[in-house]
Amino acid sequence: MKKKFGRTTVLQDLNFSVGRGERVTLIGPSGSGKTTILRLLMTLERLTGGYIWVDGDPLTHDRRDGRRVELKPRQVVQVRKRIGMVFQQFNLFPNMSVLQNIVEAPVHVLGQSQDEASENALSLLDRVGLRHRADAHPTELSGGQQQRVAIARALAMDPEILLLDEVTSALDPELVGDVLRVLEEVAASTDITMLIVTHEMQFAKDVSQRVMMFDGGKILEEGPPAQIFSDPHHERTQKFLEAVV
Ligand code: ADP
Repeated sequence: MKKKFGRTTVLQDLNFSVGRGERVTLIGPSGSGKTTILRLLMTLERLTGGYIWVDGDPLTHDRRDGRRVELKPRQVVQVRKRIGMVFQQFNLFPNMSVLQNIVEAPVHVLGQSQDEASENALSLLDRVGLRHRADAHPTELSGGQQQRVAIARALAMDPEILLLDEVTSALDPELVGDVLRVLEEVAASTDITMLIVTHEMQFAKDVSQRVMMFDGGKILEEGPPAQIFSDPHHERTQKFLEAVV
């Protein structure tokens, strides 16, 4: 795949695949293209060239007669149903309660009944330790609590793929642990494929099977966390890890 913003090439001839149920962490310096990859997967950005496939289905462009064809809005909705994303800045709907935030998409996109969606939302809130805040508004919650609601909201869509974009970067240090523990539980108890952008290297080590080090829109090296973190092959990876840990 290839991605340009204007004339600037951000991702150049990038080619990788992620197995079903695999958890992969993307690391690398700021500006190396990690967030852009997640946003492309979420169809929040348009590819400049190449293709992305999810389980054989084209994510961004179909190919007809050898030509690239944009997906129709209906197809984009189908794609987004399968993928959940949690952002650095939570992005909860501020005018809705915690419960409404979680129920919204299952009701309007998946067509669940209000009762079914609410029941599921409450059990997800249990799971992230926030059932007692179901009626609160996002502004009444700490950043860490908001992020746990955002995780519950993503899980409510029962996604095949979960994209986590620096989900603890905006949090006070004392709130990071609770969010990471929730994600560790999700990783341990589901077979959701995860792509994770994080600077929390211990978390990356604990939950992911593969780490990809990006630099300048390319994969500099990749491997199991134990190898990348303790015996990186590239000096740039070494320097990057020294700087973040
Ligand atoms: P990372 O997540 O590794 O920090 P990003 O994917 O956010 O990197 O950014 C990669 C490059 O793309 C950066 O140079 C950034 O400035 C540029 N970029 C990202 N989004 C946009 C945008 N919407 N318009 C223009 N340039 C962008």
